This record gives sequence, C-alpha cells and structure tokens, in this order.
Amino acid sequence: MEATQRNSNAASINKRRFMFKVIAATALSGTSGLVRAQAKPVELSETDPQAVSLGYKVDATKVDKAKFKGYQAGHQCSNCNLFKAEANAANGACAIFPGKNVAAKGWCSAWIKKG
Ligand code: SF4
Repeated sequence: MEATQRNSNAASINKRRFMFKVIAATALSGTSGLVRAQAKPVELSETDPQAVSLGYKVDATKVDKAKFKGYQAGHQCSNCNLFKAEANAANGACAIFPGKNVAAKGWCSAWIKKG
C-alpha cells in the first residue's frame, strides 16, 4: 500500500514537471512571436508607387523642382510634422507611409512644417 502511494506521488510530481515544461515552452515561443511582430520597418523605396506619386526622394536636393513646385530648399523629412524619429536619426517613421522608414534628408510633396 505504501509503495503504491509513493508511486502515485512520483507520478504526480512527474506530471507537474511535464506541465511546467509545456508552459515554459509555450511562453518562450510566445516571446519569439513578439520579437517577430516588432520587425524593423523597411526603407521606403523611391520606386514605391505612392512614393512616386508624391515625388519622394531619399535626398531632398534631388526633388524634381519643375514638377513639385511646393518644394523649397531646406525642407526635408526631419523638419516635417509627419516624421517621427529619435533626434539626429538617419531615418524614421512617416504617417504617410505606414510600416516604412523614410530618410531624414528625404522629402515628398506631403511635407508639412513641423509645428
Ligand atoms: S510626409 Fe514628410 S516625413 Fe513623410 S516622406 Fe513626406 S516629407 Fe518626409
């Protein structure tokens, strides 16, 4: 009888250890899923159809000034109200191009003075 109870307790402990491992493995796989969800945004390409329509250039000095008459020297993404980035970052997020990074020295015709 005593031996049966000991075996039962050992089985219970093994079952608990197994469940702990399953929970730990599940938690770890969930963490790696979060890391994947926060992948770095891709750089906006000048050939992206929306970028083309807005005249986006990685280098604001290369803007087609004949076509985009609203461009003025000194206007660039880093001083646009739609640009979000750390201070002095080379690129950052733009509300016009969700999920993509634009160059701090870039420009497009949706430029709005930082307020
Ligand atoms: S909206 Fe502003 S930050 Fe976005 S690409 Fe155009 S100029 Fe740059």
